Amino acid sequence: MERATPIRYLKTVGEKRSALFEKLGISTVGDLVSFYPRRYVNKGDIKKVADTENGELCSLIMRIDTKSKTAISRNGLNYITLLASDDTGSVSVTFFNQQWLEKSLVQGAKYRFYGKMVYSMFAKTMQSPEIEAVIEGKPLRAIFPIYPLTKGFAQRNIYNAINQITPYIKSIKDPVPAEVIEKYSLMNKAEAVEQIHLPENMEKLELARRRLAFEELLTFQLGIQNMRAKIKKENAIAMPLKGTNAGKFLSSLPFALTAAQERVIKEIYDDMEKSQPMIRLVQGDVGSGKTVVAAAAIYLAIRNGCQAAMMAPTEILARQHFETFSKLFEKFEIKIEYLTGSVTAANKKKLREQLENGEIDLIIGTHALIQQSVRFSKLGLIVADEQHRFGVSQRAMLADKSGEYSPHVLVMSATPIPRTLSLIMYGDLDLSVIDELPPGRQIIETYAVDDSYRNRVYNFIKNQVEAGRQAYIICPLVEDNEDNNLKSAEQHGADLAAMLPTLKIAVLHGKLSGRKKDEIMNKFSNGEIDVLVSTTVVEVGVDVPNATVMVVENAERFGLSQLHQLRGRVGRGKEKSYCVLIYEKESEKAKQRLNIMSSTNDGFEIARVDLEIRGPGELIGERQHGEIRFKIADIADMDMVNATKEEAEKICTEGLFGNEKYAELADEVNLMFRINNSENIFS
Ligand code: ADP
Ligand code: MG
Repeated sequence: MERATPIRYLKTVGEKRSALFEKLGISTVGDLVSFYPRRYVNKGDIKKVADTENGELCSLIMRIDTKSKTAISRNGLNYITLLASDDTGSVSVTFFNQQWLEKSLVQGAKYRFYGKMVYSMFAKTMQSPEIEAVIEGKPLRAIFPIYPLTKGFAQRNIYNAINQITPYIKSIKDPVPAEVIEKYSLMNKAEAVEQIHLPENMEKLELARRRLAFEELLTFQLGIQNMRAKIKKENAIAMPLKGTNAGKFLSSLPFALTAAQERVIKEIYDDMEKSQPMIRLVQGDVGSGKTVVAAAAIYLAIRNGCQAAMMAPTEILARQHFETFSKLFEKFEIKIEYLTGSVTAANKKKLREQLENGEIDLIIGTHALIQQSVRFSKLGLIVADEQHRFGVSQRAMLADKSGEYSPHVLVMSATPIPRTLSLIMYGDLDLSVIDELPPGRQIIETYAVDDSYRNRVYNFIKNQVEAGRQAYIICPLVEDNEDNNLKSAEQHGADLAAMLPTLKIAVLHGKLSGRKKDEIMNKFSNGEIDVLVSTTVVEVGVDVPNATVMVVENAERFGLSQLHQLRGRVGRGKEKSYCVLIYEKESEKAKQRLNIMSSTNDGFEIARVDLEIRGPGELIGERQHGEIRFKIADIADMDMVNATKEEAEKICTEGLFGNEKYAELADEVNLMFRINNSENIFS
């Protein structure tokens, strides 16, 4: 048996059940090895009957005193009933539809029962508990893994399969170099895999988890470092500043750049002047002016005879960038187009042709559209705006778009996160920070209120609209859902229209067609709509300076960084702006958390608190990095993230690929980064 052995060769699996395993993503023995449990139950903590509580999930060791014959219940189920006891009391145990127990259970023998204790009127009872015989000299396993399963699957199907591969598990070679294992006191791989599936006790389980997480992070770090090295070896078009009149472009802007913007533009220009590809992340708080920084980079690329592509996360944002750039470049003879789902097929075809023959200088669109079947004549720069998931690995997939030369890449993000986290999210990008807001930015007055204030808030909106302003109301859901009272955009829009009949109200959400979204957004931009009731599709980037009120319903449902993004949609013009966060009345904790929003406007500070309260999952989307999902690593463990980065750097200097010493580790890296991509991206 080896890693690549198909799972169907296992005796307890076979052809039929292997389809179920496939559904869980398990087709080989290796897949099963890294199919980690979601959680564990501890059946080793044995209670006495007298010490149990009603409703408690517990383990009891009891002797079977009496055992009934199989009977049929009123609703047609087979059942048997036992009376079982320890020295403190007895329990009436019923099993439904488990007829074989009638024969196999032995009166007078001891068993471990694991299940929910229910005190009924006349007796303590358990229904269909898990049951195992207590055998002298053979200790019962205490900790049981619970795997994330699909329908038709029982935990025991996995247990059986794992049992069959234990000889293989014991033979797994350790890919992590011995000195690293020693330095960090890691458990060896074979033992860790065994303990994760068949834990002896909690201590060993914890060590196993730590060990496997370490390996996973190390593998990840090695992968991104190798990709970075590979990208840096590619040829890019050097784009000298000289003769481009960039200074003229920058001074044509309707404002003076901040010192931070100037510094970051210089960092970008220094990169782009080189003949190796730029891979740079620009972080800047909401409103710090990232768009003109991108424009400066795009200008340089185009004046050097190249094309540029800008990717936005939503169609709304793509459309808006199109308008912004059209204005910024108005006097500079730059041909700009935009490509999103709402563009007709005929137009798409035309755009593709114009991209391919070089007529278009700048194309703006959503991620998917630019990736799909678009050919450029000479793509020199890719800008990814607010793309949390545009990392080094996505960059690698775009690499051959422009043929012989690789484009420079600029990623822009308003989520100010620690360096270690950005490493996980984006891979190893060079970092520029815009740590200054343009002058004269006013503080957005922010209030967290419970829903008894709702009518007052609506009145306030009405007053603002009458004074010529506009407002956003953000709701967490699209359609009303009966089992909870979360505000839905659709329903809320309708209610509001009834309550405020003089206002022009529109509803915007992700389920509308691209064209419809554009239309609504345009009307809001032009002031034809007063109040936009929306889901978080307006979260990032949207710029309507006349909007002065941001109301967030069920604000307790959002992360602070997300609220900060939403708040950043107002306060973009001259007028004083307000943000009102409405939370459910009962929630005192929500109130405390939301009050942080009133106390600071600093996105970095908010991200720090958010990270502390909610962990990094919210910021980066559950254990996800582009196509890579961490199976076991906890990216909040900054110490481990840093340690693995350091070790990866050492290994890379020695050479990961082609080095006998790291052969197994190189295999792991290939395996992790080859997901959805049959090619080896390192070769
Ligand atoms: P973000 O960093 O959130 O993407 P934007 O690029 O959308 O921010 O900029 C926010 C607003 O600030 C825009 O209206 C933009 O024109 C304006 N702006 C950008 N830079 C400056 C500056 N140096 N001085 C004044 N206003 C600026
Ligand atoms: Mg922006």
